[in-house]
Amino acid sequence: MKLILLGPPGAGKGTQAERLVKKHGIVQLSTGDMLRAAVAAGTPIGLQAKEVMDRGDLVSDDIIVKIIEDRTAEPDCANGYILDGFPRTIAQAEALEDMLAKQGTALTAVIELRVDDEILVSRIETRARETGGARADDNVETLRKRMEVYHAQTAPLVSFYEKRGMLRSVDGMKSIDDVAGQIDALLGEAATA
Ligand code: AMP
Repeated sequence: MKLILLGPPGAGKGTQAERLVKKHGIVQLSTGDMLRAAVAAGTPIGLQAKEVMDRGDLVSDDIIVKIIEDRTAEPDCANGYILDGFPRTIAQAEALEDMLAKQGTALTAVIELRVDDEILVSRIETRARETGGARADDNVETLRKRMEVYHAQTAPLVSFYEKRGMLRSVDGMKSIDDVAGQIDALLGEAATA
């Protein structure tokens, strides 16, 4: 099973991914987590990415695509994975398509979590409070920038995957359990399709 969770910052991608990991025995590949680990470890990629991330912009497609190519080649990905925060641009989605075609495989589904912008602001504020500001980009100013970037660069992926007949949308404004139920229902359909 190979899934993409698509949605704006704070839509609940990470929360739903964690649940799917447990349920289906697949791995969560969060490019944001990988970049934060690189920043914490002070690797060359981390040093390059930190400033870009702190201001809410996107790290370059080349860097991100290479990270995903390397990570998906690791043995624990053989059973499948959930892409959380990738792809974020059309160029990344095209690179992913090429990569999967070369590997002779394909995505199972692209799940869009639909959430209104105002709800995202309050969710991110809550996350910032609960995690004691652990993420440098969890503040209202950077969030506004991240939303702008989402609408300009990532939202076009909705129609990209719609055209390919792969998009499945769920209402991300419901409770965590309700959203999980919606995802389970559509994955059941994808499995029997
Ligand atoms: P996230 O944890 O997914 O919200 O990502 C945090 C930050 O990491 C983003 O605001 C970007 O700066 C960077 N990032 C994560 N994933 C990507 C990606 N696929 N492409 C470009 N930048 C990314």
